[in-house]
Amino acid sequence: MRCVFDNATVLYGEGFVAVQGYVVIEDGVINEVGTGGYSGRGADIVDAGGGIIAPCFTNSHVHLGDSAGADLGAYLSIGERVAKSGVKYEAHNHPDAVDAIAASLDLMRQGGTTAFCDFREGGVEGIGLLKSVQNMPGRILGRPLDDEDIFNYCDGLGISTIKEYSGEKLEKMLENRGGKLVAIHAGEARDDVLDAMKIDPDFVVHLTNAGPQSLREVFERKIPIVLCPRANASFGVGLPDLKAIFESDCLIGLGTDNVMANPPNMLREIEFTWKLYRGLYKDPGFDARMVLRAATVNGRRILGLPDNTIKEGNQADFIVTKPMEYAVDPVLALVHRIGPSDIKEVVSPPYPS
Ligand SMILES: [Zn+2]
Repeated sequence: MRCVFDNATVLYGEGFVAVQGYVVIEDGVINEVGTGGYSGRGADIVDAGGGIIAPCFTNSHVHLGDSAGADLGAYLSIGERVAKSGVKYEAHNHPDAVDAIAASLDLMRQGGTTAFCDFREGGVEGIGLLKSVQNMPGRILGRPLDDEDIFNYCDGLGISTIKEYSGEKLEKMLENRGGKLVAIHAGEARDDVLDAMKIDPDFVVHLTNAGPQSLREVFERKIPIVLCPRANASFGVGLPDLKAIFESDCLIGLGTDNVMANPPNMLREIEFTWKLYRGLYKDPGFDARMVLRAATVNGRRILGLPDNTIKEGNQADFIVTKPMEYAVDPVLALVHRIGPSDIKEVVSPPYPS
């Protein structure tokens, strides 16, 4: 089936080059991106009305399990909220916990997110609950209860902090790692990054309180980094050194972290990150495309999911916004002007495929 989104501003390729034109999709794959009006025949033509077409978001770090407790314990410390005996488990044990996870996933999709990575608590059972309402591709990184071999049930291991397990226990858990993902919260409330790096993670999350030596180690090893600045601020634990991190050669993704502490809205995440950087470092030259890339195509790459850059041969996985009549810069229109209700359409591969 051939379908055309005509009369659009298309953010083409990794550089998000604005193309005034159209996108042709054939059986779910982008077949052509052209300039001007579409003049071909035999296609279903959708008039995008001058809206922006951009890759869908990747929420590269989220805990959907605490969706039933929005702002639970908001004025407590991060430890009191998310540690083993933290209040977040009140949300996990809420009678509507699974419905709340489904509602968060719907909210994410409405906001243009079509892939995610969840650090899922609750062992094999917790993984099953999330999978029962999953509506988009995602990487579920579980945490074993007792001696469960988590790798048999999900896409990998998502470790809370390096101090959660003894060295011996970690070694045993990682024995069956195979080709699956292993990721870890590192440097969130304190600098434990060098210890976290000992497990050779596929990516690290946060680096909020990473000192110079820790950052150097991550940068030298080119370990991908997932940042959650809005959640860090919400938890009151500090902010990552965005300047050093964005200037490094590491692949950078963005995530919204605990739904309990931070709504899973990637549009808010990119606005916050972009402005925070400019404000903190007094740098009006910081390019919003860096942030948009982190929030979209980089996340797919970190998680090993199909590329959703808008270019020929890739699956159609993009948002179409309402027209932004007076927007001089379509990237900035996305990064700090639109909200979820301005997204007219989310085009993505069927799930499950
Ligand atoms: Zn987290």
